[in-house]
Amino acid sequence: AKENGRNAIRFFNPAMQAVVDAHARMEIGLREALNTGGFRLLYQPQVDRHGRLAGAEALIRWPGAAGTTVSPADFIPLAEDTGLIVQIGQWVLDTACTQLARWQQSSSTRHLSIAVNVSARQFRQADFVTLVRRTVENAGIDPSRLKLELTESAILDDLDESITRMNQLRELGIHFALDDFGTGYSSLSYLKRLPFAQLKIDQSFIRDMAQDEGSETIVLAILSMSHALDLEVIAEGVETPTQREFLRLHGCEFFQGYLFGRPLPIEDWQDFLAM
Ligand code: C2E
Ligand code: CA
Ligand code: CA
Ligand code: CA
Repeated sequence: AKENGRNAIRFFNPAMQAVVDAHARMEIGLREALNTGGFRLLYQPQVDRHGRLAGAEALIRWPGAAGTTVSPADFIPLAEDTGLIVQIGQWVLDTACTQLARWQQSSSTRHLSIAVNVSARQFRQADFVTLVRRTVENAGIDPSRLKLELTESAILDDLDESITRMNQLRELGIHFALDDFGTGYSSLSYLKRLPFAQLKIDQSFIRDMAQDEGSETIVLAILSMSHALDLEVIAEGVETPTQREFLRLHGCEFFQGYLFGRPLPIEDWQDFLAM
């Protein structure tokens, strides 16, 4: 790379330059979306072993021009790198807590929970606990219906600090789920020390269960280990009745996936609320 002008780094390789330019455009777009209310939050149902609605996972969308939508898998990593994830994550938390407050106003929806994804960088902010406490207070919600989904990478960086933070939020009544379980280190020794209520089996194992004995073995191991540790298990990416029956037979408590419902705007939730 060669210095060109004051700050801009230019690459001689046009392909590399194209990637840098695309990221720069995306960063501008993300800032603009933050300032102009350009994000949407979808909600995907989570059901219990009887098929009853238990709550939702909140999933962000960034609708672009002409009906296109950038997948969070594409923009969340850039938002992490640029630090924008902190503000985006706060918007997600605010929006989800506002929705929880609405549900908590009615006796038919008061029991429902909302799971919010918290990225590593967001979780590691020095004032994360304070920000969450303030958000919960501003929304006036019962915090026991708020579930924060963390990944192993968010926690393992500084395990002792993570334990402290999680315990502070547990004292407020907030619950935790360990997302994408099975894809990382998944060490029993640290799981025992962390106050998780729920493990979320990664959808790659659910998808491959039928074809691949290894995945089936991992799913069974996660289920028996979780129950030995008094953790609830939620399976994500459940798409077929066969997957649901296998999981249910082996004691899986909660389910999420296209079999039950896709992520939808809350306006389109009538059918789920009748579950
Ligand atoms: P994740 O947290 O593992 O979310 C599950 C993903 O699986 C979602 O993709 C969901 O739409 C998709 N999914 C749900 N059921 C099924 C199914 O039956 N089959 C298949 N094939 N897929 C299913 P989505 O919404 O595109 O999100 C992708 C990732 O982006 C999420 O993975 C999460 O890591 C991240 N993400 C999404 N929203 C947020 C957010 O608000 N904050 C943060 N930090 N990350 C987010
Ligand atoms: Ca998640
Ligand atoms: Ca996941
Ligand atoms: Ca995932």
